[in-house]
Amino acid sequence: MVFGYVIIALFMLAMSFYLIFRLNHLNKVTDSIMKTDIPSVENGEKLVDSLLEQVRNEKKYLITNDDAFLDLFDKKKREFLDRLKSMEESTNDREKKLFINQIKELHNKYLSMVSKEIVLVGSEEIIPPDSRYEEEMKKTLDQLTESINKLTLALQTGLIRKIELFQKIGYKSAKVSLIIILFAVLFGVIFAYFFTRSVCSPIKILKDATDHIADGDLDYRIEVTANDEIGTLGTAFNQMCNKLKEMDQMKSEFVSNVSHNLKTPLTAIREANDLLLEKIAGPITEPQIKLLTIIKEEAHQLTMMINDLLDISRVEAGLMRYNFQSSDIHDVIRKSMDEIRFLAENKNIHIQCENGDSVPKILLDRDKIAQVMDNLLSNAIKFTLPGGTILIKANVVESHDITQFFREQNRLNNVHSFVKVSISDTGIGIPAECHKKIFDKFQQVNNKGKGGIKGTGLGLSIARHIVLDHGGDIWVESNMGKGSTFYFILPCSYDYALSI
Ligand code: ADP
Repeated sequence: MVFGYVIIALFMLAMSFYLIFRLNHLNKVTDSIMKTDIPSVENGEKLVDSLLEQVRNEKKYLITNDDAFLDLFDKKKREFLDRLKSMEESTNDREKKLFINQIKELHNKYLSMVSKEIVLVGSEEIIPPDSRYEEEMKKTLDQLTESINKLTLALQTGLIRKIELFQKIGYKSAKVSLIIILFAVLFGVIFAYFFTRSVCSPIKILKDATDHIADGDLDYRIEVTANDEIGTLGTAFNQMCNKLKEMDQMKSEFVSNVSHNLKTPLTAIREANDLLLEKIAGPITEPQIKLLTIIKEEAHQLTMMINDLLDISRVEAGLMRYNFQSSDIHDVIRKSMDEIRFLAENKNIHIQCENGDSVPKILLDRDKIAQVMDNLLSNAIKFTLPGGTILIKANVVESHDITQFFREQNRLNNVHSFVKVSISDTGIGIPAECHKKIFDKFQQVNNKGKGGIKGTGLGLSIARHIVLDHGGDIWVESNMGKGSTFYFILPCSYDYALSI
């Protein structure tokens, strides 16, 4: 970043220095035009006038012999010589100096001829007209005028050249400034692009990593390559993930230990309660039977929760054992339905299984898939209002019939067909943003308390692990207020089951 700003500052400095240098040059050229060239051109133009005045006064004096004209002649002569002198001082040009010397010589010649005439006029001699002398005078004056004109032309040409130089410098300065500005802008744009990219891409990587962590993927880490502040941030992020993972493991171990330690006393309580209810320990009254029944139900509930906690600990530790057998999924479905039917009837919910196409036997762990079915069915009953319906379907689907949802996550490219089971209810539904989340552990949509709905938020997480371990997948489609359909698929191939 500092490098970029330094480069831009250097561009600006270079441009400023260049412009200052050029302006100085322009200033000098303007100065020389104003102080030297323009006055010289004016002097050159006035030289001719001054010469003509001299000739006119000389002629008038010769005719009238009036001294006033002689004075005027002297005045114009001095003016002429002064102008010539100032022109000589202001130029270093060889050509102009040559012209000036020429003018001086011719003017001197003219003056000597004039002084001869004046002497003759002064002696009051009768001067016979001398045509040779007049011709000489005329020739000298013509040469003088021509030299003055040549000098004026040379001065004007010099002035025009300087004006052209002035224009050239201005044009060149504008061009060079424009090029420097273009380079600065181009560099600025490139610099801004790379700078933004260098800031945005690590932020995006961090954001993606945060999303992974938020989704429960605590093993996700950032690859730290830079050695700067962003690299330090990445390292800090990874350290935070390590700590999170450590804490998550500690929590899982703690939950597993507590659950394990609770299981034995709870079993003893349940057995003692059963003995009391069976009146083996002696006769009991009707109110005591009611209280013991409540204890039995709650202890059962507690056992289920502890089993869920132990299951999730086992699954996470990779200790879940499977007993794969070739089985008909319909048998598993029927058994789960029979076990849960009384719960549905209690809530006046109609539960039915559609006898569709025949489904081939597949390799599965009957108990574990029954556990998945039990969870999905008990959820369907829990979250469906009395009078609702639960429909179960099982059929075979080809892998290309499976939705994009599964294809994106498909880990089994060589599996061509699956058994697909769906459990649809007419319950309260699940908001779209929770469709993925509910399969994470301890995730419950904010519908607790409605109708006394209880749960641990572990059932779907365990079900997902079991289905994934079978090489399948599980997902939900739901409309709020209309109901939900949970799908799970199991591969028809034997290879996968045999490989685990
Ligand atoms: P539990 O049922 O013990 O809370 P689960 O993991 O089985 O835990 O379910 C997680 C959450 O998913 C539930 O708390 C509930 O909010 C939501 N859910 C599951 N099945 C359904 C269903 N059929 N209809 C509506 N919500 C459901």
